Amino acid sequence: MEASAIVRVPAGNQGAGFDAAGLVGELRDYFISGGTRSLDWRRRQLRQLSRMLADHEARFLEALKADLHKAPLEGWATEVSSVQGDIQHALKHLKKWMRRRKVATPMVVQPGKSYVQPEPLGVVLVIGAWNYPLQLALAPLVPAIAAGNCAVLKPSELAPATSALIEELLPQYLDNGAFRVVPGAVEETTALLEQRWDHILYTGGGNVGKIVMAAAAKHLTPVTLELGGKSPCIVADDADLEVTARRIAWGKFTNAGQTCIAPDYLLCTPAMAARLLPAIADATREMFGEEAKASDDYGRIVNSRHAARLAAYLEDGEAFMGGEADVEERYIAPTILTGVSLDSVVMQEEIFGPILPVVEIESLDMVEDFVNGRDKPLALYVFSQDDAFADRILENCSSGNACVNDCMMFMAVHDLPFGGVGPSGMGAYHGEHGFKTFSHFKAVLKKKTMLDLKVRYAPFTSGKFKL
Ligand code: NAD
Repeated sequence: MEASAIVRVPAGNQGAGFDAAGLVGELRDYFISGGTRSLDWRRRQLRQLSRMLADHEARFLEALKADLHKAPLEGWATEVSSVQGDIQHALKHLKKWMRRRKVATPMVVQPGKSYVQPEPLGVVLVIGAWNYPLQLALAPLVPAIAAGNCAVLKPSELAPATSALIEELLPQYLDNGAFRVVPGAVEETTALLEQRWDHILYTGGGNVGKIVMAAAAKHLTPVTLELGGKSPCIVADDADLEVTARRIAWGKFTNAGQTCIAPDYLLCTPAMAARLLPAIADATREMFGEEAKASDDYGRIVNSRHAARLAAYLEDGEAFMGGEADVEERYIAPTILTGVSLDSVVMQEEIFGPILPVVEIESLDMVEDFVNGRDKPLALYVFSQDDAFADRILENCSSGNACVNDCMMFMAVHDLPFGGVGPSGMGAYHGEHGFKTFSHFKAVLKKKTMLDLKVRYAPFTSGKFKL
């Protein structure tokens, strides 16, 4: 821990008495002091973050179980190990990312040299979401640290066990002069959003995203908005049935469907649907047994409000599989819904739960019209053995991210940017893209004083220029 550690805002000081301006002021002073700039300091913070996860892995997995009934192995794979991977990647490449990038210097400004110098933005705000409460709080913090910033982290109040653990442990490991955790909900977030930040990275729904962006606009603060949307899953007639079914079932029912990049709905021909739906049902049974409610590996909905919202969607079609809901227990069965109308709520709103509506189209020639007639999604999935078909869809349909013959696994590729487009978000992070998000790339020209051609100075007499 740094010698200059400043005590973080105590939990009792939240709410009405919460001094958001004072907090940001302290961090800004620390940033200006230059304490966050060196490669050594950044590396030390990243290693400390990694140590925090390693030292308390079991407690984090317990917290994820308490919040979302996440199986320990799932919590480890999708949250703990995912952030550890981000940290190791940043540690490995940080020195290179921080380097100046030399560019060519034209004759007109010779003698001199030109380069792009990455520099930290300053004091940034990270607002996390509840569905991957550990990953979505810490994964943006990794590039914020790597880029040399001070940061305030506001984890989601809807995952209280994980948020409380982050609040307890982070100050024990990171430089308290540079990093603070602010627990709380709308009131605290609103107080934070009133302050001037150098960047805000927000993960969550689009409605709050608009609030974040409007607040940021008052200070001309740039934002990264990691939002959601209805991500289509297109299955061509030639898709490998067994693997496709297993990967879709995994993508849709992991974390009980509460994944921003989960396939939202299926798009396929009636002939494919007749083969695919039983195969998805088989794959789901293989993962969670006959009764998912009894499975230790099947998640719960974050709260009863969201469970009731999802239960209402079940009325919008016929359950080919599942269809049971127990709102009090926050349980929604893994469900495939057929016969849905495109006007129904389940096809109008992002589902964000374990319900997979099936949209049958007569011909795959209609896929582009269908997808492009809706908001640009966060993710798009194509299952096909025909590379030309997959390329056609990728070429013609816009989405934040895309995957061919799998779901969600682009998240495991450190060098791919992760972010939405249009209503599914703006900006991106992960790997070097995250470093860039939290850096300013300053253009520098360094000149010598020899050779000062007078031609560019007034007076512009005719003898100087021959036009
Ligand atoms: P949310 O938008 O309700 O909350 C997210 C954060 O915003 C929380 O920290 C919360 O405290 C804060 N917040 C809530 N209301 C606020 C207000 N009025 N003013 C200021 N701050 C406020 O979260 P949600 O909508 O339930 O999350 C689900 C959505 O998030 C889905 O649309 C999902 O697709 C999206 N999501 C996106 C990603 C991504 O990486 N792109 C990841 C996870 C979730």
